[in-house]
Amino acid sequence: MTYANHTRFTRRGFCLCCVGATTFAVSGGWLTPKEVFAQAQGIVDMIRSAAAKAPIEVHTLRGNVSVLEGSGGNVAVLTGPDGKVLIDAGITASRPRMLEAMSGLSREPIRHLINTHWHFDHTDGNEWLNKEGATILAQENARKHLMSAQRVEDWDFNFPPSPPAALPSETVSAEKSLRLNNATLLLKHRPNAHTDGDITVAFAEADIFHTGDIYWNGIYPFIDYSTGGSIDGTIAAVEAILASIGDRTIVVPGHGQPVSNKAELQAYRDMLTTIRANVSSLKRQGRSLDDTIAANPTAAFDAKWGQFVIGPAFFTKLVYEGV
Ligand SMILES: [Zn+2]
Repeated sequence: MTYANHTRFTRRGFCLCCVGATTFAVSGGWLTPKEVFAQAQGIVDMIRSAAAKAPIEVHTLRGNVSVLEGSGGNVAVLTGPDGKVLIDAGITASRPRMLEAMSGLSREPIRHLINTHWHFDHTDGNEWLNKEGATILAQENARKHLMSAQRVEDWDFNFPPSPPAALPSETVSAEKSLRLNNATLLLKHRPNAHTDGDITVAFAEADIFHTGDIYWNGIYPFIDYSTGGSIDGTIAAVEAILASIGDRTIVVPGHGQPVSNKAELQAYRDMLTTIRANVSSLKRQGRSLDDTIAANPTAAFDAKWGQFVIGPAFFTKLVYEGV
């Protein structure tokens, strides 16, 4: 990856890019399958240190909703008289830049935080946001994962339980409707997709849809089998989201360029279903994981989708685990 590319991706504030760029710089872009899996190790520490430096870029959408980019997952903010409502918390190290960006949006305090799932790049900031005055809400499985130690096998990382102030005090089971700041927020559980505790958040009047990590815009996604995620659940969730949004809907992905739309989400669905079919066919022929990776089942998509930390071999492994 060239320096120019790295600069462009860094400006987008997608902190995983720094991990990808570093790895590409070291390896020249070519990794053996073993190296690819080794690359996943240490991801968490690298994301944390990247977020400590990354600027926060503000994208103003509509209906008093904005997106903050640059602190882990994309953070949506709804402003209004009930206080700021955040979708996802980002990384604690971004706190001063997050506060500065949010004070530029409105003067109200932060009152509500909704976690799309338990992963650290969406919940690391829970504790400081709770101390600022935010009530935290998440899907009940996400709360369970935050309450106890978790191991994410594919990151080779053990997470300790979250501190009490970081735990959601409210939970969603299947779905929930909230009325805040004169807006209707529809929260919906998407079972066994990116994890077993993903919720999506639709801002009904503004026609904005935050997908959490079910959708990574323009890049191969991570799927967390260790806490109940699956390729088939991810595809099912994307199909359900596509059926519920329109051509004017602004789609906010968990990662990647934060202002997306239905056509781009359809392209993501097509990528997922084609690669799933290719990998499944190879696995049914009795091919091992290494043989399946060597057959390049993602080849048609790598130039567009494979340029980040979840590269072609790593993504093939994630699909192979689930078919
Ligand atoms: Zn995630």
